[in-house]
Parts: sequence; C-alpha cells; structure tokens
Amino acid sequence: MAPKYWPLARGHMVTDTFGWRAWRAGTHWGMDFGREGGSGGLPVFAVQGGTVVNLGPASGFGQWIVLDHPTDDGGGTTVYGHIIPEVRLGQRVEAGQRIAHINPDPTTNGGTSQRPMAPHLHLEWHRAVWSPTGPDRLDPLPLLAGALFPGETPSPAPAAQGYSDYVREGFAQLVPPKGNR
Ligand SMILES: [Zn+2]
Repeated sequence: MAPKYWPLARGHMVTDTFGWRAWRAGTHWGMDFGREGGSGGLPVFAVQGGTVVNLGPASGFGQWIVLDHPTDDGGGTTVYGHIIPEVRLGQRVEAGQRIAHINPDPTTNGGTSQRPMAPHLHLEWHRAVWSPTGPDRLDPLPLLAGALFPGETPSPAPAAQGYSDYVREGFAQLVPPKGNR
C-alpha cells in the first residue's frame, strides 16, 4: 500500500476537524493543523505522492496547492490551504515531500472579522477532483490512519547486503589494500 504522511511534522496539533461549525455557520470541509507556539512558516508535506495540478491564489484559501494522486499513490485529490507554495505546476511530488510552508500572514487563512484565525494549514481530501460542493469531500482524519510523520521511512531498512553487493557498489574500496603500510 502506498505510504501516507501527516502534512506537518511530529508535534503538530489538529486545531479543527471536519464537520459542521456553528461559528462558521457552515461545514468545515477539511481539517486544520498547527503547532503550539505558532504555525507561521512551518513546513507542509504531501500526504500522498502525486502531481501538482493547481497552485497559487484561490478564493478563501489565500494560496493553495492541489495534488492529484494516481491510484498507485492512494487516489483522490488533496488540497493544502493558507500556505506559500514551494513547488511548481505539473511537478511530481512524493509522499512526505516538503511542498510549502504555512503563510504567516493571518489575513490569508480563512478567518472572519468576527473570528480571526491564527496561521494554520487547511487540508482537504476529495474522492476524485477538487469540488466546492457535493458528497465527494472526505474527512481526512480516517484517511490518515497509520500515516507516517515526515522524515520517517515507510519500511524497515533493507537487510544487510552480501559481500558481492558491496563490491559492486564500490564499498570494497574502503578496505585498505593488504601489505600497503
Ligand atoms: Zn480549515
């Protein structure tokens, strides 16, 4: 199964979940992430491998990145809002790769004048393509079950190689030649 990653480093907090919010007078169609002590500038990581299909200014998001995930990478589309992109349109990114940082400007993050919001990441997950309406907007939380933290590797290190593999890769050159002292 393709690896999944949390979009922020270990130590992050979920600051809002998916669902109806009275203060928003609407449904929160994603999940918010931050960190104690402030989140402006924190690195943001791709939750799955995919292709950058949209990025830059987007209404309500400040700036966003939209990633399309092939079936082999887990499928669907993920959206990263209130960020400053570090990737380019059409670029392939791998699961767990740094793609952005959280925009420190609090006017870009979807707050309202009644309820300003601190800088944070807004993550959306869509069954197929991004859509502002419809039932294909998914709760990211169950989809992130078992996700790795950025920097972690998805499987244990490969078993020790045989001597012939070391020779092939040139490691044998590290052994001092005999009788050469
Ligand atoms: Zn949000």
